[in-house]
Amino acid sequence: MIPALSPSAPVLSRVAQFCAELRLRDFAGDISTGGGDRTVMATDNSIYQVTPQAVLYPRNRDDLVRIAKLLAQDRFAGIHVAPRGGGTGTNGQSLTDGIVVDLSRHMNRVLEIDVAARRVRVEPGVVKDQLNAALAPHGLFFAPELSTSNRATIGGMISTDASGQGSCLYGKTRDHVLGLTMVLADGSVFRSGPLSRDELDRACQQPGLGGKVCNALDRIETKNADLIARTFPRLNRCLTGYDLAHLRLPDGGLDLNVVLCGSEGTLGFIAQAELNVVPIPAYSAVATMRYDSFDAALRDAQVLMGFGPASIETVDEHVLALAQEDAVWASVEVFFPEDPQGLAKGVNLVEFTGESQEQVERALDALEEGTRRAPNPARRGYTLARGREETNRLWDMRKRAVGLLGNMKGDRRPVAFVEDTAVPPEHLADYIAEFRALLDRHRLAYGMFGHVDAGVLHVRPALDMREAGTEALVREITEEVVALTKRYGGLLWGEHGKGVRSEFSPAFFGPLYPAIQAVKAAFDPRNQFNPGKIAAPEGSSLLAIDAVPTKGQNDRAIPQAWREATDNALHCNGNGACFNWDPDDAMCPSWKATRDRRHSPKGRAQLMRDWLRRLAQQGVDPLAEARGLRARPAWRALPARIWATLRRREDDFSHEVMEAMSGCLACKSCTGACPIKVDVPSFRAKFLEIYHGRYLRPLRHHLVARLESMLPLLSRLPRLSNMASAEPFTRLVGLVHTPKLSTVNLRRELMRRGVSFADPETLAALPEADRKRSVVLVPDAFIQHYETPLLLDALELLAMLGYRPWLARYSPNGKPLHVHGFLGAFRKVATRHAAELRALAESGVDLVGLDPSMVLTYRSEYAAILPKGAAPKVRLLQEWLAERLSDLPRVSAEEGFALLPHCTERALAPGAVANWQAIFAACGLGLEIRRAGCCGMAGTYGHEAEHRALSEKIYAMSWAEQVSAGGGPGNLLADGFSCRCQVREIDAVTLRHPVQALRDVLRAGETVTAR
Ligand SMILES: Cc1cc2nc3c(=O)[nH]c(=O)nc-3n(C[C@H](O)[C@H](O)[C@H](O)COP(=O)(O)OP(=O)(O)OC[C@H]3O[C@@H](n4cnc5c(N)ncnc54)[C@H](O)[C@@H]3O)c2cc1C
Ligand code: SF4
Ligand code: SF4
Repeated sequence: MIPALSPSAPVLSRVAQFCAELRLRDFAGDISTGGGDRTVMATDNSIYQVTPQAVLYPRNRDDLVRIAKLLAQDRFAGIHVAPRGGGTGTNGQSLTDGIVVDLSRHMNRVLEIDVAARRVRVEPGVVKDQLNAALAPHGLFFAPELSTSNRATIGGMISTDASGQGSCLYGKTRDHVLGLTMVLADGSVFRSGPLSRDELDRACQQPGLGGKVCNALDRIETKNADLIARTFPRLNRCLTGYDLAHLRLPDGGLDLNVVLCGSEGTLGFIAQAELNVVPIPAYSAVATMRYDSFDAALRDAQVLMGFGPASIETVDEHVLALAQEDAVWASVEVFFPEDPQGLAKGVNLVEFTGESQEQVERALDALEEGTRRAPNPARRGYTLARGREETNRLWDMRKRAVGLLGNMKGDRRPVAFVEDTAVPPEHLADYIAEFRALLDRHRLAYGMFGHVDAGVLHVRPALDMREAGTEALVREITEEVVALTKRYGGLLWGEHGKGVRSEFSPAFFGPLYPAIQAVKAAFDPRNQFNPGKIAAPEGSSLLAIDAVPTKGQNDRAIPQAWREATDNALHCNGNGACFNWDPDDAMCPSWKATRDRRHSPKGRAQLMRDWLRRLAQQGVDPLAEARGLRARPAWRALPARIWATLRRREDDFSHEVMEAMSGCLACKSCTGACPIKVDVPSFRAKFLEIYHGRYLRPLRHHLVARLESMLPLLSRLPRLSNMASAEPFTRLVGLVHTPKLSTVNLRRELMRRGVSFADPETLAALPEADRKRSVVLVPDAFIQHYETPLLLDALELLAMLGYRPWLARYSPNGKPLHVHGFLGAFRKVATRHAAELRALAESGVDLVGLDPSMVLTYRSEYAAILPKGAAPKVRLLQEWLAERLSDLPRVSAEEGFALLPHCTERALAPGAVANWQAIFAACGLGLEIRRAGCCGMAGTYGHEAEHRALSEKIYAMSWAEQVSAGGGPGNLLADGFSCRCQVREIDAVTLRHPVQALRDVLRAGETVTAR
């Protein structure tokens, strides 16, 4: 049994006192000094790991005032804070060993949309895509773009002056900020915006820090005007971090917004923002141009700029290859036809927008004409995507590119530290050639892509930060890149802000640096806001890129074998794709419903790696522990487990991890949609096994895990069993809303329909023609026992389509055992069941199943533990039918259907969702695939009393609306057992499975062509 693990380092007494006083001052938000929160807030997407003392989650502006006023007291002068939004910074921007102030949990409302004036007012924690979803019905959008648009907050965007694709047309975030409500270091509320000379003079008179700041900025700008003009580069991606070059207005006034934009939380809290929004371009098209080399693509981009595109993005072959292995490829494949020379080595995505389709078509004609007149032998050709839906598919792929870079195989993984340099666009190709030579000299792998129109290059060299001495390599490469960008008149910090890389500011600014320091000193005289970044006031220092603790250093204690056994948990690079805001996206329901980052894939991965580190420190090998637990009979350790449970040490760090793991629905969305394929359900199961090797499990774990074995028995007397499993009884063991067993007698119905059970000998003895027509339906515990009619309908459909259906004899699949971490038992069940299914498959007859979650277990959990090739090949029924489209009859009925797919299927087998559409289309029926998140049920999760409220909340976020919208009378379909259960429970609506819809249409007898 593992020992109780040491708790997180105690909180400094002055921080504890600060938090206690804050509470006394009616702080309305949340305050946490818990180890779980501190661990999760210790990282962003950078190489660094810095554990804060506490995390504050303010609820409103007044809470920010309370924090700042308390900080301003002398006794708390030593405390510092870092504001935090989505935590997607790539250079430690929001990391601190002080207090994190997370503005994303509560302060995330769109407050006002003024359509006529094209203005919005938002709280800082609003996510960029959230804002755009609210604006879309008005035909407007917030234009600055960034790859992390589905999780980065407006506060974070403003503070890093974010920009990305389309910046030449729409500019940076700063260009769209009209005004900011700031809470300054003395607790005063300050409204920034462009001030005319007169307004500035009045502002300088105002009491408090606001007046002093106005005075100081006026002075600093006047004194250094020449130096400022000489030092700041004239680039599209002008410098972030106190942009003095754009501070002075023509009439002598000042625009304070430009200094605050890009200030990375070093000058105060942004409490509210007023933003300018613009009309969504009505029409758009993207030409995807393929090349023989990345260099050719980069050089051609300069020629293509002449055709006036809205934006050009260049992607290299590594990024394309990674995209090919990702779920995103299915949606863009059509735009990348196979060339005789193989996959393109470079691609330019060239976007044209316009007020009318004709305008866009004229631009495309000009491109066609121009490229014909000026041929380029390295150009292979191009495809066109027209309209929002198609172009968005390409931009979504491009947005995933940075994340995908982290998915290289092996221990050396792409990391961010020189990932966003910018040079004048006309020099980009030459610059990149030198950059590549630099990385090649260091023998480093890398993938590249960039905003060529703006001269920005994204590159992440692959390093194993656990190797001793890598920090020195990070320094060496950074310094070489700094020198290289300087030679090309460019910047190290072209897009993602400075963070820890602020170290290079004094050298860059030279004699102007004291002016930058003076700005910091004016706003934050005691250096309490995110110190060490952007500028350090006299007497204090900036952080250094190799002097901040890294994740790699932390992970060094974790042995390689554990790293490999924990399902990519240790490869989580914090890119935050799992913080996806969109309720209609499957990723990650527990995070969306709680807004607690511990309950996200990143949170769980982060806690897992810290848990492994603590185990290593105590000399405990979790792999040996798991082997021991499986080898010994459970009863032997029972007394010790009872003792440990009774004497439960509350400060055992394992409980912190357990809390995060227990909120996981095991829906597998992370496994499919995380660019790094961090597989939470798999490492969670391993954790649960070891955790419960020390602490007793609740009774319901045992019941649920054994349910698959008990169901055949219970089904013999379904009515009695249903009475016994009614609410008051199940509640006693923590289960609620359990489904009712079907009362249909399966054996009798099979006989009536002439369907036999499949056994290997009978199948093997079938004549060839019969075997070819045969297919075995593999039942799962839930559909067979709770939805027996569906099983029969599927068999009937197969027969109607001219096949000979067989039913495999029921045998537990083991999924519930896996979910609850009974891994020893799971291995036994999986080994046995796989052997049974392989024996059937050896006859040459195909095996199919109905429920996505159960069938995909064979591909995922079975494949992970069984020897190579031993996992049985069971396809989803629709995957099998989609290979036989020509066998399907066309019907005359003009019905349309809508499908709400299972989220595990969306994540792990996105093609299978599309298969339903192809099948319905082949039958002449319409099928719309609805965008929806998780239904909240996820196997037994929604039946567990402790999770029921959250399960219903998850349902309300996305499914409730879809179900109430319906799909035509009775035409809304769902292919997941859990989903149908949840809809029945909450909305009292029975959704059909797609096979039932097809069966019913065929039964109605309106077949036009039988094939
Ligand atoms: C995969 C990936 C791709 C990326 N692509 C792009 C890109 O295309 N373009 C781009 O510009 N960036 C990009 N980034 C970087 C990052 O997403 C941006 O910098 C983003 O703007 C950060 O927003 P956030 O909400 O995550 O902020 P955080 O990372 O939480 O914070 C960023 C900074 O803002 C400060 N801050 C946050 N909220 C406030 C507030 N209310 N008041 C004061 N200060 C605050 C923090 O202290 C910190 O210094 C990328 C990052 C990743 C991981
Ligand atoms: S779990 Fe995946 S998506 Fe989430 S932060 Fe980690 S790597 Fe990114
Ligand atoms: S399995 Fe689902 S709930 Fe659990 S971490 Fe992954 S996405 Fe979140």
